[in-house]
Amino acid sequence: MNLILFGPPGAGKGTQAQHIVKKYDYFQLSTGGLLRDEIQKNSEIGKKIINDMNDGKFVNDEIVNELIKNIISDPEKKNKLIFDGYPRSLSQAKNLDLLLDSSNQKINFIFFLNVNKNIIIKRIEKRKILEKRSDDTLDTILKRYDTYMETTKPVLDFYSKKPNFYEIDGSLKIEQITAKIDAFLKV
Ligand code: AMP
Repeated sequence: MNLILFGPPGAGKGTQAQHIVKKYDYFQLSTGGLLRDEIQKNSEIGKKIINDMNDGKFVNDEIVNELIKNIISDPEKKNKLIFDGYPRSLSQAKNLDLLLDSSNQKINFIFFLNVNKNIIIKRIEKRKILEKRSDDTLDTILKRYDTYMETTKPVLDFYSKKPNFYEIDGSLKIEQITAKIDAFLKV
């Protein structure tokens, strides 16, 4: 099965993805993580994206699409993918459909972790200390939230009409969210 974890920054996508990886042997495809790796390596891509990322803006679709292409078609990861932070725009959602189609895959579950801005600010302030991410300043958090709301709303409208879309209250405790996701994934 392939799943999408969908929701604003700080909704808990990464945390839940790690749980699923451990318990069910999935692969977490975190576009934010892939992009941060490029910055860390100081690669050509890293140099191109560092300003946008630190500014809370989305990275150009072409760059992100290119980074995920090979992962999706990798036979070892086939039907074990958790999309964390992708897609974030309608064009990315359409690109994902094409990439999955071309390797005979589909999305089985879309989990939308819904959380409000106040909770997100509190969570990211905490994460800032734990993970030391350069895009976790209050100013950037607010920008990332607004960018998310503006750009990702059409993606939410697109997915919420699908029969395999499930909204989960992202303000619940980590274990409560995990239990809800588990209930869907258990065969
Ligand atoms: P995340 O780790 O998912 O919170 O993403 C951190 C940052 O990486 C975002 O604020 C964007 O700048 C960038 N990013 C992550 N995923 C995408 C994506 N699918 N499209 C464009 N930019 C992205």
